[in-house]
Amino acid sequence: MTSRCSTVAFQGVDTVTIDVQVQIAPGLPTFNIVGLGDKAVNESKERIRAAFHSMNLSLPPQRVTVNLAPADFQKEGSHYDLPIALGLLSSLGVIDSEALADYFVVGEIGLDGKILPVPGVLPCSIAAHAVKKGLICPKTCAREAYWSGLHNIIAGSTLLDVIHNLKHGKITLFEDIDRQYSPEKKKNDKNHPSYHSGNFSEIKGQKLAKRAMEIAAAGGHNILLSGPPGSGKSMLALRFAGILPELTAEQALEVTMIHSLAGLLPESGLITEPPYRDPHHSATLPALVGGGAKCRPGEISLAHHGVLFLDELPEFHRSTLEALRQPLETGYVSIARANNMVRYPAKVQIVAAMNPCKCGYMGNPSKQCSRVPLCGEQYQQRLSGPLLDRFDLKVYVEDVLPADLLQKDAHEESSAMIAERVKKARDLQYKRSHKENFSHNTLNAHLSSQQLEMIAPLTKECENLFLKAAEKMHLSARGFHRILKVARTIADLDVSKDIHPQHLAEALHFRS
Ligand SMILES: [Zn+2]
Repeated sequence: MTSRCSTVAFQGVDTVTIDVQVQIAPGLPTFNIVGLGDKAVNESKERIRAAFHSMNLSLPPQRVTVNLAPADFQKEGSHYDLPIALGLLSSLGVIDSEALADYFVVGEIGLDGKILPVPGVLPCSIAAHAVKKGLICPKTCAREAYWSGLHNIIAGSTLLDVIHNLKHGKITLFEDIDRQYSPEKKKNDKNHPSYHSGNFSEIKGQKLAKRAMEIAAAGGHNILLSGPPGSGKSMLALRFAGILPELTAEQALEVTMIHSLAGLLPESGLITEPPYRDPHHSATLPALVGGGAKCRPGEISLAHHGVLFLDELPEFHRSTLEALRQPLETGYVSIARANNMVRYPAKVQIVAAMNPCKCGYMGNPSKQCSRVPLCGEQYQQRLSGPLLDRFDLKVYVEDVLPADLLQKDAHEESSAMIAERVKKARDLQYKRSHKENFSHNTLNAHLSSQQLEMIAPLTKECENLFLKAAEKMHLSARGFHRILKVARTIADLDVSKDIHPQHLAEALHFRS
């Protein structure tokens, strides 16, 4: 007889429903899996054989054929173990085939019959929810599955657990999860992982850099910090995610989904804070942008709706940096696969840091760079003009002044205070984009030049200021728009309807 259940294959963050068909027919004892599976899929039969043996079950001495349909779609990963095993058990009459047909199934099986966690349980749970089916998944992934809003979840720790649950129709595990991890409780849970640490109040002085970061956060702008080693560029970057607003429910789900696919989700489930990723400059192109043999989301997608910190920017491989340009423009990464295209979302804010020159001492009064100015010029030439152009704000982070360090009672603003102003400025932008019928919630950094002209008209006074500066700075049209966007953000922080000369002047300052 033939039995069937459903599982999913992943295509970026999208899922393709896979029909798992298991047939036991008379013939020589064989066990075949067909339907374009990779090595992990093919090895599934060995794990299943061993797991059955551990339950004192043996495969029937007949011809077992497993078909993963549609047969022309490439299937990767170990999450097919559980659907195949359950399909087999239903063919053998151990579990009811009708009951099984009501579920999507994902999970890897260990040789001892334990069900092991797999990446992508959340997207699978969402797929099951969409067609009003239940989900059978590893117990350790239950919290993740729950965030799709699905209630009919069987989360077993062993194959026997799942058989027992299906046989007796008792779906009790979900209730336990529900009680432990209601969204309200999650909100108050102080132990959930945080992607950023530290508070802006711990950084003494650095008024200019802090101001630039506030503007960047408010308008969604990319920011480049340059300055001597030890001036605190990394400390500033590390605190940047802390002044961004908490993710909306929709954003949280997107971010969680990407982490789920990468197998990087903390056990506590949903990610509600903007992610912070800081790949090393030796990172390869697949690691940073995504793809590779396994086709996993890269750092830029893991930083979706959050911060990608690139420390020592000129040390990154040039080809790797250039590959960031397309996602920065479009908000997603496209990866060509053997027979299809995979897309991962990648809406990030880049915070980059660099030393002024290779040795790091250029402009340092106490230890001057010996190869000035060539050292700095060569170093900066490693970055292409178009890439540098993506940074709306550039700020020089000076060494902390000894006087600032000694001021013990100086009051430094906390991250929470800055975050409040950032949120207010963002709300203004969202309100405006809603009023003007822009798509979704558009931050100033993502406005098109047309949209920008609609919402940021310049007074005569500002126009004159602009013309004068443009001549001095040799501004391109793109440069002009970038400055205007930053000026709009500064005006929003000032809760000003119009852009005034002082807003424009500050934006010009951060561009030069
Ligand atoms: Zn130097």
